[in-house]
Amino acid sequence: MAEETIFSKIIRGEIPANIVFQDETVTAFRDISPQAPTHILIIPNKLIPTVNDVTAEDEQVLGHLFVVAAKIAQQEGIAEDGYRLVMNCNKHGGQEVFHIHMHLLGGKPLGPLLSQ
Ligand code: AMP
Repeated sequence: MAEETIFSKIIRGEIPANIVFQDETVTAFRDISPQAPTHILIIPNKLIPTVNDVTAEDEQVLGHLFVVAAKIAQQEGIAEDGYRLVMNCNKHGGQEVFHIHMHLLGGKPLGPLLSQ
């Protein structure tokens, strides 16, 4: 059984977060340490620790993350200029919170994808 993270508490409203969207499948909230003018995390309400734990059962949930990302990008006014979606996995990917999350980053030119 995967261990819950702080994100499960955010989903249940047990700790404060700046939630921008929530439905029965996903929750989206502003990153506490924004790396761009818009930095929102979009997460499945179901706990999936890492991308390595994704199964075929999760296809609908994960597809919904993209639908919500596109909707939020419109709401934030960054869809036309563009943005970046990032999902980190484990140590080399830089994952810190083990409840998968899509970073939605935008609001300025983001530069190259990877630092050297
Ligand atoms: P990652 O490195 O991909 O696991 O990203 C974890 C992200 O979660 C980081 O960008 C953190 O700033 C963000 N984060 C951690 N705790 C919170 C929180 N309580 N509310 C909002 N964002 C958080």
